[in-house]
Formats: sequence, C-alpha cells, structure tokens
Amino acid sequence: MKINNICCIGAGYVGGPTMAVIAEKCPDINITLVDSNPDKISAWNGDLDNLPVYEPGLKEIVEKVRGKNLFFSNEIEKHINESEMIFIAVNTPTKTKGEGAGMAADLKYVISCAKQIAKSSNSDKIVIEKSTLPVRTAEKIKEILYNDGQEGVNFEILSNPEFLAEGTAIQDLYKSDRVLIGGDETVTGKNAVNELVNIYNRWIPKSKILTTNVWSSELAKLASNAMLAQRISSINSLSALCELTGAKTEELSKAIGMDKRIGTQFLKPSPGFGGSCFQKDILNLVYLCKFYGLDEVAEYWHQVVKINNYQRTRIANLVDKTLNRQSNKKIGVLGWAFKKNTNDSRESSSIYISLNLISKGYKLYIYDPKVSDKKITTDLKDNEHLIKAKHNLENKFVVCRSIDECIKNSDLILVLTEWEEFAKIKTKKKIIDTRNIVENEVYFKL
Ligand code: ADP
Repeated sequence: MKINNICCIGAGYVGGPTMAVIAEKCPDINITLVDSNPDKISAWNGDLDNLPVYEPGLKEIVEKVRGKNLFFSNEIEKHINESEMIFIAVNTPTKTKGEGAGMAADLKYVISCAKQIAKSSNSDKIVIEKSTLPVRTAEKIKEILYNDGQEGVNFEILSNPEFLAEGTAIQDLYKSDRVLIGGDETVTGKNAVNELVNIYNRWIPKSKILTTNVWSSELAKLASNAMLAQRISSINSLSALCELTGAKTEELSKAIGMDKRIGTQFLKPSPGFGGSCFQKDILNLVYLCKFYGLDEVAEYWHQVVKINNYQRTRIANLVDKTLNRQSNKKIGVLGWAFKKNTNDSRESSSIYISLNLISKGYKLYIYDPKVSDKKITTDLKDNEHLIKAKHNLENKFVVCRSIDECIKNSDLILVLTEWEEFAKIKTKKKIIDTRNIVENEVYFKL
C-alpha cells in the first residue's frame, strides 16, 4: 500500500502540530486535518497570527505547507474515504458521569470517530490512535470498525502515542527522543507498522523508532506521563518542607539533579502541574490499577495528583497569609497558561488558585500574554461551582491588557506562569514567585 493521503481527525493541540510537521517532512503526501468544530477549521484556514494553537515555530510551517500538501476541512467523511492512513487525535476528557466518573477517560469522541471511519471507508485503512487512551482501547476501536464497517474492508489499528510537550511541540516533533509505534504481531499488523515507520524515518533515525505490541505502547504513554508528574509532585512536596526549615528549593533541586541517575529535568518547583494530560493520564492509570484489583498500586499513583492539589491550596493559603487575610486587597495574577509558550490553559493551576482566592474574598487582576480574555473568563465561569457559597464571580476579576495594568491595580503580585517577560518585573509591592523566574528581589519564592 502506498500512502498518498493521510487524514487526521481532530485539529487541536496534538493533531495540528503533528500533522504540520509530517506535511513539512513528507511533501509527496497530502495531509488533511478534519474537525467537527467548523470554527476551528476556519481559524486554521485564516490569519496566521490567530491559528487555534500557539506553538513557537508552528505558524512558519503552516505558512510554508498550507494549501500545498496540508489542508484543513470540514468534510470528514470524504477525507476519511480518500485516505489510506487515518490518525485519531481527538480529545479524551475525564468522564464526568457513569462508571469511573472523575477518573476514567471518556471515550465518546474516540468511539464516534471509529464509527465515522467504519461508515465512511470503502477501502482498507490503517487507523492510528494518536490521542492518549486507556490500555486496550485499540481493541474497542477494532470491534467497532469490524462491526459497523463494510464487508471486505480491512482495518489495521496502531497505537502511536504523542510525546510532544506543549510549548516545545515543534522541536519535540523534529527531534523526538523516541517514536513509539504499537501494532498487532500479525503479518498485516507488521506491514502497517512498517508504513508508519517509513513516514517517521524521513526525519527520525531508525534507532529512535521503537516498535512494540499495541498494549505496551498504550501503557507506555500513561506511565511516562505518570513518572514525569511524579517528579513534579516530589519536588513540590519538598518545597513545603523547605518553606518551614529554611532550606532553599532551588539549591535542593540543583543538588538532587546533579546526580546523573536522577538528572536535572522536571525538578523545578511550581504551583502544580497543569495541562490536559498529566492529571488525566494518572487518573486513568489509577482507574486501570483499581480495575485489576491493584488497590495499593492505584493509591501510590493517586498520591501524585493529591500532592498537586495540595500545592495549589498551599499557594492560595500563602497569599492569604501574606495579606494578613485582608480580603479587601487586590491580587495581580501573572500567567494563565499552564506553562510558558503555549496558549493552552486546560487544568492550569492558575484556574484553581484564582478560584480559591476569589472564594476567600479577594479581587484579581489577571494578565497572560497569549491566553485570550474570553478563555480566561470561561475557565473561571466553567469552574464557578468550586467557589464557596457566599462568594461568586461577579466583579471579582478583571482581565488586564498589560503587565503594568496588572501590577498598578494590585496590592500583591502572584507569578504563576514562567513567561520570560515576567522575569524583569519590578515593583515595591510584594511579589510571590511560584516559578522562581523573577530576577529582582521578591517577597517569597518557592
Ligand atoms: P488535544 O490536546 O488532545 O489535541 P484538543 O481539544 O486540542 O485536544 O483537540 C481535539 C479536537 O478534536 C477538537 O478540536 C475537537 O473539536 C475535535 N473532535 C472531537 N471529536 C471529534 C469527532 N468525532 N470528529 C471530528 N473532530 C472531533
């Protein structure tokens, strides 16, 4: 099978950057991103400065390949049928109701994709799980494809989890530590794996392309995220001890990190990890362990999420204490994205810390260089239920247009995202720096 056309369902933070890089590296393959959200598709086809995803370097690639071999379309069925290879890159939020609510991944979008692929395919397809999915989802997808699909059409399901980090997605895609491809150990399975290996091998050396069975690949993604998050929770738990003992977290991180066996990365204290993956993937892992009766293992991993919530509460309490609980004071919140160089604020600690402070009665002046006013407002409104009864969001926050506006209106500045432009801030007001980024003297750093 020669791969001439690829279709990717889901034009979000994963699908967008991944397909842009594949299109750039494979000029002979036509790639179409489809999405059920028409506004997103128009935005991808629109102004390069307002693409739905902000990532350093992404705009330049889109400018180069859009309309040549990278396309964005609403015609989902047509592009599925025309493609030999289909990526599923839709979101998999945590279930809000039913069995496993608050923990298991909600597969409704993945299942609806599988149904759509089954219905729209008149010829054989290689279907690739790109979204992070619970172990053994491939089996479920396969079942749907064969139950709902047309007679005589064959499907091979591969797992090819994404390891890109938001903020450095393009560089991560260019120079992946490894590309993981899981497939069936049958002849047709192996052929399908080879087709995908050949695509990545245009720019990734074979030594970095790891092929495994489907379930190892699915589990490796969850486990990698759980291990990374565990490092953050480990250093954050120790930052609480540093605060009480006078040890300095920065010095501690450095001393620990210089041990080659441990390494330097992911040892920076923070207001807690955010993003759409870490919490979700760990909870998925916890659910999986519970499902198999491994309660102690489940509890072990669950603790990583609990420390993350603890860290958020700890920071809100620290701000409250610093202001002597005078809730008429105003707080400047610098940073809404869950980390620098992305406009993604899903599960950002800023949301939870801000709501906690609002529930204590404070008014907030919020600024972020890349997250829109609208997004900040909906992030808060969507989670208003977390605010204690006697308070609400009315007049409790202002989204600012500049750092200066934020500082001018506030009694205390709380730095929550490590945007480089926050490094130079200077004010006589108290600064609490949860990212250890501010170069001038601050009142408190983690
Ligand atoms: P991720 O970080 O996993 O990429 P996003 O929310 O950024 O998550 O992107 C997922 C995209 O998938 C969204 O743009 C959403 O509209 C799209 N999507 C979800 N379900 C479907 C579906 N059944 N068909 C097409 N697109 C879908």
